[in-house]
Amino acid sequence: MHAQLLRPVDQLSVEHAAGVHTLITDIDDTVTTDGHLTAAAYLALERLHQSGLRVIVTTGRPAGWCDHIARMWPVDAVVGENGAAYFWFDSASRKLKVHHHLNPAQRQEQSVRLQAVAQQVLEAVPGCALASDQFCRLYDLAIDYCEDVARLDPAAVAQIVQIMQAAGMTAKVSSIHVNGWFGAYDKLSMSRTAMRDLFGLDLQAERERVIYVGDSPNDAPMFAYFPLSVGVANVRDFQNQMSDLPTFVTRARSGQGFAELAEQLLAQRAGAGLAQGSVRR
Ligand SMILES: [Mg+2]
Repeated sequence: MHAQLLRPVDQLSVEHAAGVHTLITDIDDTVTTDGHLTAAAYLALERLHQSGLRVIVTTGRPAGWCDHIARMWPVDAVVGENGAAYFWFDSASRKLKVHHHLNPAQRQEQSVRLQAVAQQVLEAVPGCALASDQFCRLYDLAIDYCEDVARLDPAAVAQIVQIMQAAGMTAKVSSIHVNGWFGAYDKLSMSRTAMRDLFGLDLQAERERVIYVGDSPNDAPMFAYFPLSVGVANVRDFQNQMSDLPTFVTRARSGQGFAELAEQLLAQRAGAGLAQGSVRR
């Protein structure tokens, strides 16, 4: 699909940047660095948002975190738990709102099934653990393979994926967790829903005007979908495990790479004569 992949991000041109109205980004190891949100990365996010770009974050992180992020971060929406729900702060009513993939009764039924698979994984794969943030998840089973436990080898990670898939779950490997869920949704499908519901935009028709930033195999479908996709430098760590690679790659890793992309994008947009606040909505 892409003529050339992993191009240096300084090749992102005025022509690329001029039409962009939305930035969609992963959080872990893309905006954050070694598990922390640095001032530089947060400032980059704030500058992007203040420039008039619509900013949407997509993450495998739990619903409980998304509630916080949608309320407090400089973002327009948060797609959480790998696409199970999206959250936004409605400034007119001054309320946090959520769009769920399933209704409450369906979520209850599903959580029983999730617990059974969790038990199976914990018994079969020594050294893994439930992610520490499992308690505030609604849809997802997150198995920690290197965040709070000693890093497991790739064979153990593959075994976790296999158990989840055998139980009928979709399984994705992020840089810290293996996430499993029932259902066919993903970050992309729920981003499409959020863009339609919140902004009246057809993501398919708009995808050349959206820039996506990520770092790991669970971002590969987004890299494939958006012609303007960017990996922070640590995406190269996963290069051989990924079905699709981003068009551009930053020099710096993680949050510093995100700040590098923000600087390039904002400079090119300024070059295109896009004044602050000129694009969003
Ligand atoms: Mg990530």
